[in-house]
Amino acid sequence: MNSLDEYLREAEQAHGHLCAGQVLGVRLAMLGLAKLGIEDPRGKDRKRLVTFVEIDRCATDAVAVVTGCRLGKRALKFRDWGKVAATFVDVSTGKAVRIAAKESSKALARQTHPEISDKNSQQMLAYREISDDDLFTTQWVKVELPPEEFPGYKGERIVCDVCGEGNNFRREVRRDRKVLCRGCAGERYYETL
Ligand SMILES: [Zn+2]
Ligand SMILES: [Zn+2]
Repeated sequence: MNSLDEYLREAEQAHGHLCAGQVLGVRLAMLGLAKLGIEDPRGKDRKRLVTFVEIDRCATDAVAVVTGCRLGKRALKFRDWGKVAATFVDVSTGKAVRIAAKESSKALARQTHPEISDKNSQQMLAYREISDDDLFTTQWVKVELPPEEFPGYKGERIVCDVCGEGNNFRREVRRDRKVLCRGCAGERYYETL
């Protein structure tokens, strides 16, 4: 593992700016990996790790930098819960740990550095200094990961009976002897114009 400062430099580049969320995300991911004993997530341990993130904000970019888990490798899973939290799954052992930022962290940042009026600067500094226990809750958890969710899984491709588009890995919906993609099954997030 790299140092906090090294990861923050990389996170700044990947994310476009340095912010309190980056500091929180880097610390959160470093803690998760330390709990699992994963030392080289982007090198020799890169096939061991799947990470679930629970928010689409700054901290998530930092988690991706530290873990090396990416959406395109199926190693990063997004659950839109709006929480600064992530679950790190060691697929070689089945061990998993969920780390969540405590709601009290902002107030604690205010207490730690009342002399800094700018919130982001105040939190950026405080989130470097506050202990893991004050910043995060840690839970050992179990994550059911079906084969098609694993990074290396190669599944068949199925063509939708309605739109003709191919879809991967048991994402299809079977209804009235038809095979449908999720869009044609009614889960569309867009309307065609
Ligand atoms: Zn940011
Ligand atoms: Zn379809």
